[in-house]
Amino acid sequence: MSLAHKSLQSCPYCQVVQEVNYYQSVNVTIDPELKQKVLSGTLNTATCKACNKEINIVSGLLYHDMGKRIMLELALDENAVDEDKDVIIKDLIDKGYIYRKVYEYGRLIEKINIFDQKLNDKIIADVSARMKALLEESLKGVREDRETIEFNVIFDKIEKSLFKKEIAFHCFTHPSQVMRVKYNLKQLFLDEKRDLYNMDLLRKQGPTS
Ligand SMILES: [Zn+2]
Repeated sequence: MSLAHKSLQSCPYCQVVQEVNYYQSVNVTIDPELKQKVLSGTLNTATCKACNKEINIVSGLLYHDMGKRIMLELALDENAVDEDKDVIIKDLIDKGYIYRKVYEYGRLIEKINIFDQKLNDKIIADVSARMKALLEESLKGVREDRETIEFNVIFDKIEKSLFKKEIAFHCFTHPSQVMRVKYNLKQLFLDEKRDLYNMDLLRKQGPTS
């Protein structure tokens, strides 16, 4: 079940206080139309009743896909404790769910995207880290100052052409300048190649399985 909440929020543009609806959890199996809203970043937005501008409601989110047995949590407060939620999540993990916690909206979308393509997110994360290190290393060579530039590397998709398969990433040091970089699947380690499409490896094995 997807849970909508109401809260009082003041519009950042005209300061008029009003009641807004927002979701703290979505079940995309029961409410598939909400998935598109999550992906487009419009799930938790409201139109101001006074000035008609769009209000972005900042909230954590649980993303639940029963078909793929995935629970993704967007947490905005790393220190928040919610024991009821922890019990539910532990139960799902015991039932073979893949659970991931992320702290940025972009990373939530990335995880949805990875699991929608039935990929092993641990391997994607490892490749992404190698890509990030390569990019940062290459920049060191061309920059005279020693300032460390941090790259964000975010999975996009697997690209297949007649002769090669590549993992494509979006990468940027600043969101205004996004580049695409690709990693040839041939460069993967043997076990990575074997397990890239094995999501079930990420699930806890129940006592009967
Ligand atoms: Zn307003």
